[in-house]
Amino acid sequence: MTSILNADLHCHSVVSDGTLTPEELAQRAHRNGVELWALTDHDEVGGQQRAGVAARAVGLQYLTGTEISVTFIGRTVHIVGLGFDPDDSALRQGLVQTRGGRGQRAKEMSAGLAQIGIPGAYEGALKYAGNLELISRTHFARFLVEVGACKDTNEVFRKYLTEGKPGFVEHRWATLKDAVTWITRAGGVAVIAHPARYGFTANEEFALFTEFKLHGGQGVEVVTGSHTTAEYQTYASMAREFELAASRGSDFHSPNESHTELGTLPYLPGNLTPVWELLADRIQH
Ligand code: AMP
Ligand code: MN
Ligand code: MN
Ligand code: MN
Repeated sequence: MTSILNADLHCHSVVSDGTLTPEELAQRAHRNGVELWALTDHDEVGGQQRAGVAARAVGLQYLTGTEISVTFIGRTVHIVGLGFDPDDSALRQGLVQTRGGRGQRAKEMSAGLAQIGIPGAYEGALKYAGNLELISRTHFARFLVEVGACKDTNEVFRKYLTEGKPGFVEHRWATLKDAVTWITRAGGVAVIAHPARYGFTANEEFALFTEFKLHGGQGVEVVTGSHTTAEYQTYASMAREFELAASRGSDFHSPNESHTELGTLPYLPGNLTPVWELLADRIQH
């Protein structure tokens, strides 16, 4: 398969921290000219069945997806899984375990915000969560915008929800090894999500890519809504150097918040193996 394909293999629905349903996303992707789509909710595969059905209804090719939260050298890294069996029991168990601490973490985040004069954040964030097990910083961000603490969610993250800020709570997610293993043993391909977002030094990034490969990881996002044009080239080079397949995805969450619309990114640069080439027999038609 060619790299000239409008594949969008990263986005979120109400099953995690997006604002559209899987059905609305399938229709929107189709309208925007997406040819191959994956819904990749955080730490959850509860929307996969609906997404697959909705994709088929509009004639959109579909790959199963998820985005697993991982703690690597004390920092949060995201690993996208594509084309796995969503009924695989080890994968499902792993995801249950990974999302397990979110409720407690949310209460602690709320306590931190209450201390600086923003009460009721837990209850406020819950209103935005379509899936209680998946309560995330994004839902807090929506509540903080609602009460006028900030003008947009980006500002909320900067002022309240990132390391060292009052609403931030340290959390231990899955290990890199576990996340990659769950995905690959379920027949899928593991992909490093938006690598430029982590702010790693060259050495830290080398360690991430090396360990990821060692555990069986096979792909990296090159063209994503989180990368600049220059970063497409940087990670295209990294993909070649580490012999990883390249992926493309908007990371779309919401029509009001996302700066990148579904299916509107540039194509993958040339001279790369597209991740969908590894997944040809997993594509649902
Ligand atoms: P959590 O998994 O609860 O830590 O939340 C992480 C989610 O927060 C990510 O998947 C993004 O959707 C969102 N997020 C992280 N950083 C930012 C930011 N700077 N601006 C807006 N959303 C962000
Ligand atoms: Mn998110
Ligand atoms: Mn992510
Ligand atoms: Mn994402």
